[in-house]
Amino acid sequence: MRYDDSPPSPESASSVSLERRWFARRSALAVGAAVLAPTALAGWVLVQVTTGAGADDARPPRIVMPAASATGTAATPQAPATPSSTAPAAPAVNPLAGRTVVIDPGHNTGNFKHTSEIDQKVDIGTASKECDTTGTTTNAGYMEAEFTLDVSRRLRTVLEARGLKVVLTHEADRPWGPCINERARIGNEAAADAVVSVHADGVSEGNRGYHVILPAKVKGGAADTAPIVGPSRDLGERIASNFARTTGSAPANYLGSGTGLVVRDDLGGLNLSTRPKVFIECGNMRDAKDAALLTSPEWRQKAAQGIADGIVGFLGG
Ligand code: ZN
Repeated sequence: MRYDDSPPSPESASSVSLERRWFARRSALAVGAAVLAPTALAGWVLVQVTTGAGADDARPPRIVMPAASATGTAATPQAPATPSSTAPAAPAVNPLAGRTVVIDPGHNTGNFKHTSEIDQKVDIGTASKECDTTGTTTNAGYMEAEFTLDVSRRLRTVLEARGLKVVLTHEADRPWGPCINERARIGNEAAADAVVSVHADGVSEGNRGYHVILPAKVKGGAADTAPIVGPSRDLGERIASNFARTTGSAPANYLGSGTGLVVRDDLGGLNLSTRPKVFIECGNMRDAKDAALLTSPEWRQKAAQGIADGIVGFLGG
């Protein structure tokens, strides 16, 4: 819009439209407005000048009638749309995004062929201990190391579907190990937000149920668990309750006083961890009833789901 009284362009002046003729008349009248005031005519002219001074967008005054609806009644002004509970919500931030979980499949299916290697002692800060152990088996020969790797892989799938980054300490893709100090180091170097070591127990028939092992407060050498005792208990309690829910299993009947929780100070994988970490013993491979569960793929999926739910809850997901 221009606010000057320059004459219209030749093209405009030659226009024969009513609109342009009105404009030309208005321009002429505007010049004499001051002289003619306060006549009624001047009042009309001033209105025209102040409502459309520009040559390019000058338009005759228009009276706009309210729009009628299709039914012929006057349209009712509508209130502007306001957000409601039915409006699509902005995408929620996933509290699990960018978080890392390290899963440690206990033992290794190759350990029994490498006893001299896994028997080497490693420093766990508070003591010296074997690098790794073979783990147990069911009476029929199903290895704990097979069980732990299968549950760990299922767990990884569930957690990755929730947007978590998951690291396994091994996938039996090495002849033996890793040693327990290396398993701890993998969690530490990944800056894991939670670490779970998956196991099954090997005690006498009749001892049944799961238990979660929490780190005791220990300090010695490279071991200092004071910062992780609290969060590890939170993690462990969540895993225990969710595991019970998804599997229907009971807390161990042979230790932990029926809580499904045990605190230990002798596990290198816990003592050397700087990240929240627990072990879970999913059942007793040497008990026939527990073994029937542990060897069931369907049950192992429930076990993985329960552990995953505990981890996700711990991470605020
Ligand atoms: Zn084990």
